[in-house]
Amino acid sequence: MNFFAKSALAASLFCTMLAGSAPAYSEELPRVLILATGGTIAGVAKENSATGYDAGKIKAEDLVNAVPQISKLANCDVEQFCNIASQDMTCDLWVRLSKRVNDALTKQHYDGVVITHGSDTMEETAFFLENTVERDNPVVFVGSMRPATAISPDGPANLYYAVKIASAPESHNRGVLVTMCGNIFESRDIYKSNINSLDPYSSRYNGPVGRVDEGAVRYYSAPIYGERPYWGLPADAVLPKVDIVHAYAGYDGDSIDAAVEHGARGIVIAGVGNGNMSKECIEAVKRAVSKGVKVVRSSRVVSGFVHRNHEVSDDELGTLASYDLSPEHARILLQLLIYHLDNGPRQNYQLDLQKCFENGYFVKH
Ligand code: ASP
Repeated sequence: MNFFAKSALAASLFCTMLAGSAPAYSEELPRVLILATGGTIAGVAKENSATGYDAGKIKAEDLVNAVPQISKLANCDVEQFCNIASQDMTCDLWVRLSKRVNDALTKQHYDGVVITHGSDTMEETAFFLENTVERDNPVVFVGSMRPATAISPDGPANLYYAVKIASAPESHNRGVLVTMCGNIFESRDIYKSNINSLDPYSSRYNGPVGRVDEGAVRYYSAPIYGERPYWGLPADAVLPKVDIVHAYAGYDGDSIDAAVEHGARGIVIAGVGNGNMSKECIEAVKRAVSKGVKVVRSSRVVSGFVHRNHEVSDDELGTLASYDLSPEHARILLQLLIYHLDNGPRQNYQLDLQKCFENGYFVKH
């Protein structure tokens, strides 16, 4: 560990000592579970590097102990769920995390859950939980852009704000939330829009839904999406392989055939414009659909709706339109839908699947 890393860790331990031993339980405060999964928020500087760092190194307890002010907001329990960079997040970990959060809310009766997570795939994990968490209590994702050992890390304040959001009664019934840099987003339309900024997320449609600061948690409007879905995945659920392919001028669709050969049960096309694709790509889609692979047309364009039968005829091709979901979010929904078709009661899937994309959720009929 280099000099900066050592001194920053020493500073955080000093804060911990100032805070004294674990704060007493307060009846007046909500109970919040903090689940740490890794990411830059738990990152430490690389030896002999001014800017490089390794994500997912600092332990959950040390992260939380470095922000003693949290004990004034909530009675927090802390768990190390995993400690990875979020580029290594997997579907198996999603299923386990969802089970852990459902247990925390339904069996252990926590008032809210905070999940620390790397910023690279936070939008995906948050949307997975959006579709699989049973309760309306706040579940808040948070990360940081600077590692814990940076000269001025953003993680401690972000974590403090996340606990504040998870403790606020106004945060109920808003689905899974993401906060960075004081902004609050709904998980459904969030995407990482900047690689370096401390405020790295944007919303595809609605903008941040609220803001948190030292004084209060403020939401700009009532919850948008209404009743929440619930998928009820068993703890040992294995999600089907669904791949995303990216279209561009001259794209020949070869990667669609490759995905099918490698066992993809579903394919999401990040098409051009309104989910459009070249003639060769359409031929590849036909081959995939004829083998029973579910194909969703989404767009590489950041915002706007991919409509059914706009330029490409979904009716003829047997494809689905993603509507407002990003390719990454459409992939998660398609995984859940295929899992449900395989394991749940069979339904008129063509109608159901398209309705689910229009709503962005699994829709019961
Ligand atoms: N690669 C890191 C991660 O996602 C980046 C971050 O946390 O900001 O774990």
